[in-house]
Amino acid sequence: MKEVSNMVFDREKEADYLIENELIPAGITDKKVLAVMRKVQREKFIPASLKEKAYGNYPLPIGENQTISQPYIVALMTQALALKPEDKVLEVGTGSGYQAAILAELSSVVYSIERIKTLLDRARTNLYSQGYNNIYLILGDGTLGLPDYSPFSKIIVTAAAPKVSDVLLNQLENGGKMVVPVGGRYVQDLKLIEKAKNGRIYKKSLCGCRFVPLVGKNGWKD
Ligand code: SAM
Repeated sequence: MKEVSNMVFDREKEADYLIENELIPAGITDKKVLAVMRKVQREKFIPASLKEKAYGNYPLPIGENQTISQPYIVALMTQALALKPEDKVLEVGTGSGYQAAILAELSSVVYSIERIKTLLDRARTNLYSQGYNNIYLILGDGTLGLPDYSPFSKIIVTAAAPKVSDVLLNQLENGGKMVVPVGGRYVQDLKLIEKAKNGRIYKKSLCGCRFVPLVGKNGWKD
């Protein structure tokens, strides 16, 4: 890990270091994804006391026992979705709002659901003050999806699910993609699920991962 505590924080230098030394060597090659990982300021989504750690390749606490995901995982999930400017995206697990900002840079509209009000309120203030006007934030149980706004062309679940949810799959349009960590409460497999034009479902494992639990009707119990 790079020691930065005695240096002046230079966000561009920090972001470039992360991209060149962590993301690209680990297989993040999509230029649009790399560009947004450089552009979106991760330090604005974490507690001020952790600012110097903003471009470390690890998760960080954001309060309420929740975390902002590791940059590599954010980039990998984003790359796997192969976002297009016309995409309508559902995110389950707003957390800090960082992943929502990344998604919003590469798609038309993002609906993001969070179950913890404190986090959602903070993310809302933060995202709107940064000028994001194509993100809708909703307080609720994301395991139910958002049937009234479905279908979505892309779905991303940023908390650990016990299984691939039929409820969310039904809200994914034909030809759409979903990324979701699936497995136990502590260790999971990051899955990419593709729904073909004819509705057939294809699943692929991207890597092992460790997310906080998805808590809700179709997730884990609190
Ligand atoms: N995407 C977030 C970010 O960029 O900061 C990180 C998400 S954090 C790893 C997981 C989030 O999912 C937590 O904020 C947690 O409260 C939320 N969560 C867990 N279960 C949920 C549910 N059923 N519906 C909505 N949000 C949920």
